[in-house]
Amino acid sequence: MERRKFLQSLAIIPLTYTAMKLNELNKITEGFDKTDTMPVLFLGHGSPMNAIEENEFVTGFRNIGKTIPKPKSILCISAHWETRGSYVTAMETPKTIHDFGGFPQALYNVQYPAPGSPDLAKTTKDLIKKTEVGLDDKWGLDHGCWSVVKHLYPKADVPIVQLSLDYSQSAQYHYDLAKELSSLRKKGILIIGSGNIVHNLGELAWNRLNENFGFDWAIEANEKMKKYMLANDHQSLINYKSQGKAFDLAIPSPEHYLPLLYALALKEENEKLSFFNDSAVGGSLSMTSVKIDKA
Ligand code: ZN
Repeated sequence: MERRKFLQSLAIIPLTYTAMKLNELNKITEGFDKTDTMPVLFLGHGSPMNAIEENEFVTGFRNIGKTIPKPKSILCISAHWETRGSYVTAMETPKTIHDFGGFPQALYNVQYPAPGSPDLAKTTKDLIKKTEVGLDDKWGLDHGCWSVVKHLYPKADVPIVQLSLDYSQSAQYHYDLAKELSSLRKKGILIIGSGNIVHNLGELAWNRLNENFGFDWAIEANEKMKKYMLANDHQSLINYKSQGKAFDLAIPSPEHYLPLLYALALKEENEKLSFFNDSAVGGSLSMTSVKIDKA
């Protein structure tokens, strides 16, 4: 082949491929009407007691809910649903799971009867090409999801689907998988990651649980993470294991951190990122939450 022709053919391939891919994506999401691009949230959920307490964080969740157009449905990636392989909840009526111990009865009495969305579950499964996503009919809504979403949508009138975290996979894998969800944002779906960017229960100051303070390493990690986020330096956040001692202490296990990477992976370059509920609690937790939205 002549050099010029060869170069031309190289230029055509990616274009055709992209067009094909877009067609395919549109087909998968055709059941959902096109909307303005929905924001993406990462919510620091903290103690399950935030579900029933009145405090500044609950106010923060309520306020952020008011800044977002009402979603058609929510796709939530919670720290509290880890599986081998990936699953989405596909039932019509997900149950409220009280996946914690030793809390007051009032917390166990909370029900959050938001409907499921088998359609969104199926759409999510079809969008994800990295792995075969299973349709789950046993899970429901765990407290990583309902304890915070209830403050955004107290009427429980927005359908919710949860996507599990595959505990056998790397941070890079989760980040790449999250990118496959981006077309949902244009279909009225609010994607929420729920965890805590600094989360070390082993180091928690149990006698100062209600105090807003962070140990030096917790503040250091929280600030460094925010700096990387604002600089769009996602790779440093994906490589969290090589960020030094403060990060090691902030992320002793990945499940509360990975939902942040889902949110960041969905950020378009021209979008802005802002923080709310940005406080440390009990020394070793940070409630720092993130909103990604058009600039
Ligand atoms: Zn948690």
